[in-house]
Amino acid sequence: MINKFKRLKVIVSLLRLISPGYSYCKKCGLPWNWCEYKAVDYTLGGGTFSTCQYCWDHSDLEELKECYTQTYRMQERSGGYHQLDHTLEHLLDCVERDYGMDIKTKRNLKINKIKSKINSYDKN
Ligand SMILES: [Zn+2]
Repeated sequence: MINKFKRLKVIVSLLRLISPGYSYCKKCGLPWNWCEYKAVDYTLGGGTFSTCQYCWDHSDLEELKECYTQTYRMQERSGGYHQLDHTLEHLLDCVERDYGMDIKTKRNLKINKIKSKINSYDKN
């Protein structure tokens, strides 16, 4: 509930206003000091983030790839500190990999929940 509330356009604008200097989620626009980011690793030691965990959990793969493409293009333009040592294609592969892993994890959680329900019926 609070997650939806703080992502209302008017609230997002307000939070951005009182958080100068903070970058923000490419999907909902919440500044990073008001939400948890979801990092995608593209090397063993390097990762990047484009959306918050909430948006990651509530988006389809195409939407996430769009957000990561935006972030990549932005970093490409800014140069300097963000010397990119990976291609966009590689980054999007990593997004797809993480997204797939999350789906598997969620499916396993559901299966375990059902299993434990069945087990508790068996005991009664
Ligand atoms: Zn978000």
